[in-house]
Amino acid sequence: MNKIRAVRNLRICSKDCLCLYVCPTGATDTETGQIDFSKCIGCGACSKACPSGAISMVPYQYPKQQLKDELVIAKLNKLIQSKAEQEQMAEHIYNSSNNNIEKQLAKAFIRANRLMSEDLYRESGFMLPQSKNTKDFLESLLEQANEEILKKDIEKLIKLLDFNE
Ligand code: SF4
Ligand code: SF4
Repeated sequence: MNKIRAVRNLRICSKDCLCLYVCPTGATDTETGQIDFSKCIGCGACSKACPSGAISMVPYQYPKQQLKDELVIAKLNKLIQSKAEQEQMAEHIYNSSNNNIEKQLAKAFIRANRLMSEDLYRESGFMLPQSKNTKDFLESLLEQANEEILKKDIEKLIKLLDFNE
């Protein structure tokens, strides 16, 4: 099996199609906009050619997660909590203010806090594809999913990800 494969981020893809011209296997030319894993040989040509930085080369198998000290995780969680509270406060200002500058500042504050929370979550071991947290999260989604198509997608993800924590 290939060690790495290409993944396209559709949100930043500017659709100039350079990756289509350089791909030796046609893996980038799909109707869904996703790169076809079964055709990708991991050569990296698309990633080098992409002017938007929309293609990343990712490993098939992730290394084992570095486990963190309980104290570090507890402190990080506390910090995440405070970021979430600040985000809520900024949201309150955003919703209750009629002043444009205040609103813009509040919006920037909401975004900055959300980004910091996400970074902190990653730092504390959440949201890594190979972590037990991700597996637990996907399984909880599966329990709540009430549409068959959604269930199938979640089951597929659970099968695909190599949880190794
Ligand atoms: S080269 Fe990059 S920006 Fe262009 S279509 Fe491919 S992924 Fe999108
Ligand atoms: S890594 Fe190579 S084979 Fe895979 S999609 Fe990109 S250009 Fe095609």
